[in-house]
Amino acid sequence: MTEVHIDRNDPVIRSFTKLLDERGIALSDRQLEQFELYYRELVEWNEKMNLTGITEREAVYIKHFYDSLSLAFFQDMSQVESLADIGSGAGFPGIPLKIAFPHLKLTIVDSLNKRIGFLRHLGETLGLADIQLVHGRAEDIARTPEHRDHYDAVTARAVARLAVLNELCLPFVKVNGWFTAMKGAAGEEEVKESTRSIRELGAELAHLHAFQLPMEEGNRYMVVLTKKKSTPKAYPRKAGVPLKAPLS
Ligand code: SAM
Repeated sequence: MTEVHIDRNDPVIRSFTKLLDERGIALSDRQLEQFELYYRELVEWNEKMNLTGITEREAVYIKHFYDSLSLAFFQDMSQVESLADIGSGAGFPGIPLKIAFPHLKLTIVDSLNKRIGFLRHLGETLGLADIQLVHGRAEDIARTPEHRDHYDAVTARAVARLAVLNELCLPFVKVNGWFTAMKGAAGEEEVKESTRSIRELGAELAHLHAFQLPMEEGNRYMVVLTKKKSTPKAYPRKAGVPLKAPLS
């Protein structure tokens, strides 16, 4: 791993670690080094390709890193071995979760190969083991036997509305596993319009957690679904169809 020096008195590191301590997540110096390297690589690569609109250091730590880790406030990550992050973009929430919970076997699926290229470089720079980077549409990848009905846990942030996302993500979840969608202020409304997709994809709504992020106005939602039976053959439909004709 590339060397970087961490000062725990640095104001950004101090507020990041304090906020996480309050949630029972303690990071080692090595993990903090990985977050700092992630920040530097993200900002550097962002000059060459579109990865994020957020580049100010404290904002990256809170709105990307802390926000990604908020999944672990509601799900016991020690019970998860395999995690899939669908439409991860620049690595959110999968990479911050992998840094904080190194035991995870992380699979990332994204349809943009340039972003997969960034994540490959990032994984090497941060010395992350057990990450699988898959380039492709979730609709296509979920039809391959090694990914279908396979993961303990699946998540996605900022990819599509829930009625669409259920079709992209639930096929990856193993029976009795869970899918957690990280949602903004419209989360509650999106759950209401997702009744059909939840039922068709063989899942149940387990929890709808509302919370607020530091530095952010308005509510955030963590929608937790559990999968009760394997995905029916008809799903997911052909790439592009779930977005054009959502199951709502
Ligand atoms: N999850 C990241 C975040 O929260 O910052 C990235 C969000 S970005 C707005 C959406 C990402 O989803 C993009 O990287 C895009 O390539 C990917 N994506 C959209 N539709 C997809 C699909 N059907 N299959 C795989 N990836 C998809």
